[in-house]
Amino acid sequence: MLNVGGLTPFTTIDYPGSLAAVIFCQGCPWRCGYCHNGHLLSEHADTPISWEEIVRLLEHRQGHLDAVVFSGGEPTMQASLVSAISTVKGMGFLIGLHTAGAFPEVLEQVLPLADWVGMDIKVPFGEYDVITGIPGSGDTARMSAELVRQSGVLHQFRTTLDPFLQKEGRIESLQQMVAAWGEVLEIQRMTAWKH
Ligand code: SF4
Repeated sequence: MLNVGGLTPFTTIDYPGSLAAVIFCQGCPWRCGYCHNGHLLSEHADTPISWEEIVRLLEHRQGHLDAVVFSGGEPTMQASLVSAISTVKGMGFLIGLHTAGAFPEVLEQVLPLADWVGMDIKVPFGEYDVITGIPGSGDTARMSAELVRQSGVLHQFRTTLDPFLQKEGRIESLQQMVAAWGEVLEIQRMTAWKH
């Protein structure tokens, strides 16, 4: 069962061009200083809403919503994400995923089920641990970005404009890296993006 820390029942901004609900999955292995979702970081915290309740609520929203977005926390931290997404996709919703790419092996299973992915790229991959506090996090993020790029799934790479990223040409080198992929990096203010 997916461990869910919260739900936004209706949003117009979390899945491009679609009316969506957002499911906030519990758990994240990283500890970014600017994280706005401290209550979601523990994978095993007591949660206010069960997966069964989520499914019942979505059943009532069929025909009223286009999409369901799985966000976090880091949704790919829970292996049960794959079956949860399968259930929701079977209800006829488009599937969105917000990820920072901490678990490429789960992401790889999820991508064939996803219709749109918003992936956070925090800093140039070699400097990730400065932001996340976790050695090696840049390697997993790099692998996940590569999976997203190769997947053929509609996606957007985006970043949070934190003070470290703004120094010493980091934002420019991040933009150049994404531009070299043939894509545009979406830059978001710290208050607007939670990963
Ligand atoms: S900002 Fe995102 S990746 Fe970083 S700790 Fe918070 S939920 Fe995890």
